[in-house]
Amino acid sequence: MSFTFVAPDTEKELKAQLSEAGSFLMTGGTDLLVKVRIGKIKPQKIVSTLKVPTLHFLENKVDELVVGATISYSELLDFKPLKKDLPILYDAIFTVGSPQIRNRGTLTGNVVNASPAGDGLLALYLLNATVEVSDGSVIPIEKFVIGPGKTILPEREYVRAIHIPKYNWNVHYFEKVGQRNSMTISVASVGWLIRCRNGAIEKFRIAYGSVAPTVLRLKEIERFAEGKTIDENFVHTVSEMVKKSVKPIDDVRGSAKYRKTLCANLVYRMIERRTKC
Ligand SMILES: Cc1cc2nc3c(=O)[nH]c(=O)nc-3n(C[C@H](O)[C@H](O)[C@H](O)COP(=O)(O)OP(=O)(O)OC[C@H]3O[C@@H](n4cnc5c(N)ncnc54)[C@H](O)[C@@H]3O)c2cc1C
Repeated sequence: MSFTFVAPDTEKELKAQLSEAGSFLMTGGTDLLVKVRIGKIKPQKIVSTLKVPTLHFLENKVDELVVGATISYSELLDFKPLKKDLPILYDAIFTVGSPQIRNRGTLTGNVVNASPAGDGLLALYLLNATVEVSDGSVIPIEKFVIGPGKTILPEREYVRAIHIPKYNWNVHYFEKVGQRNSMTISVASVGWLIRCRNGAIEKFRIAYGSVAPTVLRLKEIERFAEGKTIDENFVHTVSEMVKKSVKPIDDVRGSAKYRKTLCANLVYRMIERRTKC
């Protein structure tokens, strides 16, 4: 295996390098280099984004957090407003790999890698994040990712940043179930966000990872939950709806049947944790 490696220091040069055939973009390399190593991709040239200063920024606006493409998980976790304003994203990316992986890996890489098991990706689906592309377009995450490893990112373009709207959620929950406690790819993962009003659910969002070709938002359940109070009856109904909605496959990490039951059972965490509005 042999390829050239370049690390341009402007976006103009990045684009020029990317326009050559056989060029692959790399940020942390935690997904890309694994694929190169196993021969899944054979680059002629790897173009690193890491030396481009205009991609390395965090912008904490009133209504959104903007995460530049080269911000690592560790940098993001150290950024105080993340835990305060977007705790579900904090919890999700805290589970990614190990400190070494979090020092290299990025949210942008997680998005473009488009794995249904992507932990950062699951939180971004829940938060209705958008992806800022170098051609100026801003694309909702659910439209950007179209299948395992597939996005609509145009050829020779790159992601500049991820925009994450802030909202005053009263409850957030993220859980990843794997075959061991750390350094694990999820068998299934779940997240939900709840906004309460007068003791009932005003807004509800729920998503699962690793149980469909992309992260799955369960919008029928989200609509059903509006106006309901959180009690055993509600949790039981949602659990049954989840069972019908998720479409996992059998793979080395677990059977489809096990995953379906797991997804349905995870909803009962609401009772275990005494979640109330
Ligand atoms: C040991 C190990 C454990 C892991 N554990 C987890 C885990 O628990 N949870 C989890 O979700 N993931 C995990 N991962 C996967 C990985 O760390 C993440 O997906 C990471 O976020 C990828 O970011 P990166 O910067 O390293 O991307 P890279 O590997 O650099 O790139 C990934 C993809 O994105 C493209 N890309 C990179 N930057 C850009 C850009 N600016 N614009 C357009 N395309 C771009 C690349 O071409 C490539 O296709 C693990 C990986 C390893 C090796």
